[in-house]
Parts: sequence; structure tokens; C-alpha cells
Amino acid sequence: MPKNFQSPSGMHDIFGEQYDYFERIREVFFKVAKIYGFEGIETPVMENIKVFTRGVGEHTDIVEKEMYSFKTKGGDQVALRPEGTAGIARSYIEHNLYTRTQPIKFFYFAPFFRYERPQAGRYRQFWQFGLETIGKESPVLDAQIIAVMYNVFQELGIKDLVVEINSMGDSSCREEFEKVLKKHFKKENSSLCADCKKRIKKNPLRVLDCKKCIKVKESAPQIVDYLCIQCRDDFKKVLEYLEELNIPYDLNSFLVRGLDYYTNTVYEFFASGSEERLALGGGGRYDGLINLLGGEETPATGAAMGVERTILSMKENEIKVEKETPRVFIAQLSDLAKRKCLKLFEEFRKANVPVSESFGQGSLKRQMNKANKMNAEYVLIMGEEEAVEDRIIIRDMQSGQQENIKTKEAVKEIKKKLK
Ligand code: AMP
Repeated sequence: MPKNFQSPSGMHDIFGEQYDYFERIREVFFKVAKIYGFEGIETPVMENIKVFTRGVGEHTDIVEKEMYSFKTKGGDQVALRPEGTAGIARSYIEHNLYTRTQPIKFFYFAPFFRYERPQAGRYRQFWQFGLETIGKESPVLDAQIIAVMYNVFQELGIKDLVVEINSMGDSSCREEFEKVLKKHFKKENSSLCADCKKRIKKNPLRVLDCKKCIKVKESAPQIVDYLCIQCRDDFKKVLEYLEELNIPYDLNSFLVRGLDYYTNTVYEFFASGSEERLALGGGGRYDGLINLLGGEETPATGAAMGVERTILSMKENEIKVEKETPRVFIAQLSDLAKRKCLKLFEEFRKANVPVSESFGQGSLKRQMNKANKMNAEYVLIMGEEEAVEDRIIIRDMQSGQQENIKTKEAVKEIKKKLK
């Protein structure tokens, strides 16, 4: 067939085996998040652009280089969401969620958009599963989010994980640290890459994130030495909770995350053994964000994991997703049989007995092949003769034995056999 169209660069169709992985991750994540008292939220895929320029930060790569933004026909300046937290913070303020019992705990599983150079593990539309806890300040809430994500990965079979963790301090210890950092980088200016030369003016912390300026950052001062007593104490508590929960972590003083809104504890998840060391996801505390968007000072913490990267990691670890298929298959061999089997299928559905079918196929051989592939234990076969007599054959696929029963007995008989 001529292929006139392709999906946009860096954006993918998800189906078949990829969809099975996708569905499994969503299922496990929803289940675990609900156990910890999180509720679902869906926000629009686009927001007023200021939600991101103010929230995520004007001088971050995400906003400066990667955001899909445009003017609507009505003249509103909007952007496709590059991440989930800013939109949820907007929603928290808009719906007065601070008037409810705090904290508010949300989970989401949604697509995001960043105009990045497409490569393995990096797409322009990608999916994340994320958590946000807004409205209460306590290090245990940071540890809880890390624990939920850790448990999701464990349940998916990604056992060998490490959490890299750091504290960025609150705005005052950070201000102090940024001054010291600027001084250090100015001294080393000639060794910085072109991007970092600009970064030291607007956001020197981001140099710590740079993949090119490794030497300069290795000799840089470390933020943990500039934390105030409260921030140090909070960070220590998060680490103690992780130890209590047996969650392995590595301190990484270069970890600052790419977005402006983070404060205090920040972290990223890595699957050990992953060849390219792409992060599975990350998160942290963002006590300043709600205020940046026009709300009151509100403590908050959250994390987001990449779905595609989680799938890559599952495949690298040879983790298969077993699909549960029905144990019963209905095969039909004439127009009348098809009509009757359509009705029979509905009866099975109403009785909550999952069955499979291939109504689009006419040949018995093809239908039996499909039933075999699915490992069906029983096949119900209706030919022209059975259809006329309102009967159906039950074939036990293991023994090859067949019985001929009344169609109206089929649900009851199958239920009995499946017990
Ligand atoms: P971030 O908040 O930018 O660290 O993103 C959190 C996680 O989302 C990352 O660790 C990745 O797993 C995933 N992610 C971010 N950007 C992309 C992308 N362009 N393509 C695929 N996954 C991504």
C-alpha cells in the first residue's frame, strides 16, 4: 500500500506488544498509588503559556528550547504541556483545593510534549506516570512518593534500582549557594561550554547538570555544605525514612533537575545496568511553585516517571507481560450460526465469563488456529446443523473430547467446567 503519511517525527503509535507493556504499567501504577491514598487527576494537554514560563522557569531548556507553543484562533498564547506539575498546581489554585483537608494527593498517567531531538528513549510525545502531594510540609511525604514509585518498579519486575538524591535547599540557602557557585564558575569561565557561559548569569545551578562541563563541576562547591539547619534536618529525615524502607539511594551533589521550581529534596531513579544510564524518572519538593503561579506559599512534592523508558528497562531486564486471555473460544460456521453466536457471546459477557471469538473469519481451520494460539481450554463450535437445532458443540482442547449440548445450556456448562 502506498504510505502517504507517517506519524509526526518523535511521536509514536502505541499498539500490540508495546500497548500490553503500557497497560501493565498503568494498571500497576494505579493500583499502588490508590493504596497510598492518591486520587486521579486529568488536566488539559495545553495550558496558558505562562503556567509554564512562570512555573517551570523561563530560562530552563524545557521552556526555552523544547516547548510547543502557539497562538489560538482567538489569540490566546498556549503551550502543549511539557510536564505535569505546573498544570496540576494551576488546577489546585483554580479549584480552591487548599480549602480541603491537606495534603491533596494526586496521580496521573498522561502524554507530554517536548520538541527534543528524537533518539532512543527521547521522544517529542512521551508518557509519564506521576504523583503530587500538595499542601503539607513533611519529609515523610517526599519519602512516601519515592516509596510508591520504588514499589511500582518492584512490582513491574525492575528490581535493581537506585535512587540518586540531593537537596537543593530552600530559597535562602540556595541564594547563598548560587553566589558561591557563580564565583567558582566565573573563575573557571574559559573551561565552560557556550551554554553554561550563559547559564552562570541566569541560573548557575544548571551548570551542575551539564554533561559537557564535567571537570569544572567536579571542583565546584557542594550544596549540602550550604544548607541551613532546617533544610539539612529535613533532608536527613528523608534519607532515614528511605533506610527504614530499605530503599537504596546514592547521594549525588550534582543532581539539580532541570526545572526552576524545585526546592529541598530532589531525586532521580536509575535502573542499574541500563546501558545509557537514562533516568527512569525523577522528582522533588517544589514549595515555591504555587506561589509563582499566584497562589499562597504552599508546600508540595512530586515525581514523574517516563513510561517509554520504563518499557525499555522492562525489555532490557527481559520482563515479559503475560496477557490474560479468555479460556473459552466461540467458533461459528454459517450465517445463521454467526447470528446465534453473536447473541451467545452477549450471554457470556453478561454472565462475566470472558470468551474470545473471531466472527470475521469463516473457516473453521483459521478459527481453531486462533483458539490454539490463545491456549483456549474449550472451544464452542456451531455449524449450520447445530444452529438450526439450537445446539452447540463443546470441544475440550486438551483431550479432544466433544459434547453436543443445547445452546441455552452453554454458559452454565462452561461455568461448571471452568471451576
Ligand atoms: P523530567 O522531569 O524531565 O526529568 O522527566 C521525567 C522522566 O520523564 C524522565 O526521567 C524520562 O523517563 C521521561 N522523559 C522526559 N523527557 C522525555 C522524552 N523526551 N522522551 C521520553 N521520555 C522522557
